[in-house]
Amino acid sequence: MLVDPTSGQKTEQLPTYNAYSRDGDVTAPLVYVNYGRPVDYEHLDRLGVSVKGAIVIARYGASWRGIKPKVAAEHGAIGCLIYSDPRDDGYFGGEVFPEGPMRSRDGVQRGSVMDMPVYPGDPLTPGVGATPEAKRLAGSVYPDEWIIRGNHHDAWVNGAGDPVSGISAELEEARALGELLKQGWKPKRTIIYAAWDGEEPALLGSTEWVETPAAELEAHAAVYINTDSNGRGYFSAEGSHTLEPFINSVARAVEDPEAKVSAWKRLQATTIATGTPEERSEARARDDLRIGALGSGSDFTPFLQHSGVPTLNLGYGGEDDNGIYHSIYDDFYHYTHFEDTDFAYGRLAAQTVGTAVIRLADADVLPFDFTRLAETVKRYVDDVQTLLKRRQDEVRERNRQIEDGVFAATRDPRRRTDTRKPWPAPRRNSPATPPPFVRSTRG
Ligand SMILES: [Zn+2]
Repeated sequence: MLVDPTSGQKTEQLPTYNAYSRDGDVTAPLVYVNYGRPVDYEHLDRLGVSVKGAIVIARYGASWRGIKPKVAAEHGAIGCLIYSDPRDDGYFGGEVFPEGPMRSRDGVQRGSVMDMPVYPGDPLTPGVGATPEAKRLAGSVYPDEWIIRGNHHDAWVNGAGDPVSGISAELEEARALGELLKQGWKPKRTIIYAAWDGEEPALLGSTEWVETPAAELEAHAAVYINTDSNGRGYFSAEGSHTLEPFINSVARAVEDPEAKVSAWKRLQATTIATGTPEERSEARARDDLRIGALGSGSDFTPFLQHSGVPTLNLGYGGEDDNGIYHSIYDDFYHYTHFEDTDFAYGRLAAQTVGTAVIRLADADVLPFDFTRLAETVKRYVDDVQTLLKRRQDEVRERNRQIEDGVFAATRDPRRRTDTRKPWPAPRRNSPATPPPFVRSTRG
């Protein structure tokens, strides 16, 4: 490609593959499974289509990549192909690269298909660290309390957006903290800046580091702040709800370079403009905007879900669409033409996270708010109970329709027989049963 020699280079780019995909050579009929979610297999089941012994073809999106082959295997498939549907991130969404930001017809998304939320890290050393410890900037008052800040540096190919847009902001923070040190600043707590390797295949660097000094980390880690890709647009904060008032105060202190209001004000405005009626009235009346709960998919996972360290994942974005995620086109040309073209939001990311690190490192008392945590956990419990009730009602209705012969009477007689069997209605687990995602990093 003439305008963008980077994406066209041959010497430094590996061919497309999915990390941790099992080797194999399979020949079988191909079955299209839409996004490859459980609900898609239910639909196929209703049509009398089985994937047992077949290769499934699923499109990217709607569920995490690594879940698709897992769910396919659970349904008896022996192979899984994943492709980018132009309707989701290609020409259907706008002009394609290099004229526009969307995926071109030859563009391919790479990624990991490991079962990441449960077992990230080096598969050869589960639960045990494989890397030496990083260097630290020792605190002057509370050296045993660590503020840890990280972003990954590895990429699927060129990686201008993912991860360089995030780690360049982190490097700028580190440079600025270095300037403050030269001027005599002594942070009260120990600050650790980390650049993780191997995030894309399996959160390797962060997981192995967390697993290496596990006991020490659990005694010393006060807060972990993660970033990943950064872009133009709105502030986003997810993480531990104890840090909700703290991160709201940080967002009030930094100015959005385009809207010229605080990052907080802009996020409040977009919540009012696009939120549900409940979110709208909360955004107007509540002191702080709510922060989202973290799932998995970046280097916060070993800190939050495996070691219980209070964690934030921060960033900006949402204004520019792009369809080149995890492809050779995520490069400098694309980023400087279609994303944060003048790096104004990279600067804002450095200001925001740098402010958070300095305030955490120098606080007399760490700014945890446990009332907010309790309030949010109560909301989650209510949500789970509502979900359980809804699911029970759905299953009872479905079973009743099977028993009453509704499906048998309405199915298309030219298709194969309806294979649905009644399901047991979901029950509440007894309190003694631990949730399946809890795992100790010790021992
Ligand atoms: Zn990333």
